[in-house]
Amino acid sequence: MDSQQFRAAAHQMIDYVIDYLDNIRNRRVLPTVQPGYLRELIPEEVPEQGETWQSIFQDIERVIMPGVTHWHSPSFHAYYPTGNSWPGILADILSDAIGCVGFSWVASPACTELEVVMMDWLGKLIGLPSVFLASSAGKGGGVIQGTASEAMLVGLLAARSKTLKQLKAENSQEDEKMLASRLVAYSSDQSHSAAERAGLLAGVHVRVIPTDDEFHLRAVALQSAIEEDIANGKIPFFVIATLGTTPSCSFDNIEELGPVCNEKQLWLHVDAAYAGSAFICEEYRHYMKGIERADSFNFNPHKWLLVNFDCSAMWFKDSDDIVSAFNVDPLFLKHDHQNSAPDFRHWQIPLGRRFRSLKLWFVMRSYGAEGLRDYIRKQVKLAEEFYQMLSVDDRFEFPVPPAMGLVCFRLKGENSLSETLLKRINDSGQVYMIPAKLRDMYVIRFAVCSRYTELSDIEASCQEIRRHASDVVTE
Ligand code: PLP
Repeated sequence: MDSQQFRAAAHQMIDYVIDYLDNIRNRRVLPTVQPGYLRELIPEEVPEQGETWQSIFQDIERVIMPGVTHWHSPSFHAYYPTGNSWPGILADILSDAIGCVGFSWVASPACTELEVVMMDWLGKLIGLPSVFLASSAGKGGGVIQGTASEAMLVGLLAARSKTLKQLKAENSQEDEKMLASRLVAYSSDQSHSAAERAGLLAGVHVRVIPTDDEFHLRAVALQSAIEEDIANGKIPFFVIATLGTTPSCSFDNIEELGPVCNEKQLWLHVDAAYAGSAFICEEYRHYMKGIERADSFNFNPHKWLLVNFDCSAMWFKDSDDIVSAFNVDPLFLKHDHQNSAPDFRHWQIPLGRRFRSLKLWFVMRSYGAEGLRDYIRKQVKLAEEFYQMLSVDDRFEFPVPPAMGLVCFRLKGENSLSETLLKRINDSGQVYMIPAKLRDMYVIRFAVCSRYTELSDIEASCQEIRRHASDVVTE
């Protein structure tokens, strides 16, 4: 393909993308294919001779689309949203064209510099205290990671390294492996599974603390676990608090947890993967109260802030913690400006990194702060409307109040009723939702995900849910 052929193909592809998204409402949200469907649709080997663009293009509908779950369908209500917007797509096109690998400042100065400034823009937009910002006098700063899971692992590894260094400095006799085996981190029974995974990957025990009746991690429970572990010779070092949990979007009390962590010198990592986007609206900022006591904070603009995957924003109060944990400095990566600008390779697990800040820049400029706030408020209102619609039907109950764009509901009675209901709905392919367990209670999660979802879609989804409920209850 030469540049003129690319121009024609790109126009065709852009038209396809626009038509796909504009008409996504007409596609079944869940595909009907079975595992292995794709192999028989394409040859076993790489073609020996290059093919025409037209033959490749035609295979998008034949091979790919039958197996796509349409995350941007207005009837997609599973998991949490994943961002999508025209300016976000444009930014990814440009990023692909520049195609730099911005591991250090010199590897592509604009890639690093735009990221530093965008992380400050974003931090200010959500009301993050200035100690986390690169423009403040301290050592704060933000970086774009791939995912919230990665951010959690990076936080845990930085905390592990910091703690071990301190312990070695205090008691140089003790073997580092022995010290590491005594480390213990904390999450709650509502934390994302990424917490357990970070522990597995880092070889660190993660103790799960039970939450209170409203699914919040409380200081009393944390404190008593810490004290018990210290008494048993363990070394507590890291706490994961969640703002907007995955099962029910509950919020841990940072104001209460922060002092416990600070007093015991435990690293506090705050995971606000989904709900963090809502902090751009003043009315949700109270959930962040006490955040200045955290060591690291993370949320995914690629979830709810119209930025295409992947873009997970992470801030450190003291960026030295991360740089000193991950710093290796081979000759081939050295450059003349090492101490005057961040080299983001020290802030993450991989070496290579894409030009992801373009997405933040394009999206924040195109929508403006006001446009982004309008978007969040509209999604929250749609969730409230869904709740109002479904709550008139007294066969349903709502174990937790609707929170932001999420409504958890179930059929009254045995869990099996709601399990059957969800299976029927998802099998029909018109609406897609996933379940969660709140203690022993099975609930169905309805998250407002797509930027294409309108009130009429919510009404249609609600009708579909009630129609299947009638069948399940009758049977
Ligand atoms: N934390 C919370 C609260 C989440 O809801 C999720 C995913 O939905 C994650 C972490 C994991 O996110 P990621 O896919 O970015 O690793």
